Amino acid sequence: MAGKKVLIIYAHQEPRSFNGSLKKVAVEELSKQGCMVTVSDLYAMNFEPRATRKDITGALSNPELFNYGAEAYEAFKKSSLTSDIVEEQKKVQEADLVIFQDKLALLSLTTGGTAEMYTKAGVSGDFRYFLWPLQHGTLHFCGFKVLAPQISFAPEFSSEEERKSMVASWAQRLKGIWKEEPIHCTPPWYFGD
Ligand code: ZN
Repeated sequence: MAGKKVLIIYAHQEPRSFNGSLKKVAVEELSKQGCMVTVSDLYAMNFEPRATRKDITGALSNPELFNYGAEAYEAFKKSSLTSDIVEEQKKVQEADLVIFQDKLALLSLTTGGTAEMYTKAGVSGDFRYFLWPLQHGTLHFCGFKVLAPQISFAPEFSSEEERKSMVASWAQRLKGIWKEEPIHCTPPWYFGD
């Protein structure tokens, strides 16, 4: 879809990794569609993931007893959040589609365990259980419509062929991404049958 803005939040140390390949095909496929693709490469940017006092520029409301939530909210209203945060907020605001490409995040993620381990009877439990806090608690809460996650199971324990087919199916899915309906992000999606 030409003109759509896509933000890919990418967190992996090695560009030649499997995660790097998933990011690469997404950039290629979406650019081919005429989308404007921005990548926030968190490791390359040395992005500060910790929530600290440094996120707030200028005076704190209560420096004696630091309350991150309250101070960050005040700083947001006064436009005194640190510039790296403001830049990322702007990217999220402008984007039509946000793809999180991160081992621990969502929408597009890879796992250490196999698909069988992430079933109701498996050792890790259904993969939907651990998507609940991130997908529903964070994304849905912040007003996102959530698309079904893209999960590449256990690339580490898969053959080169299998890995290639996982990357290919991700690229294939992206061809139709603008026509996808969001999931029905309610408890039954996560905890129903
Ligand atoms: Zn939800």
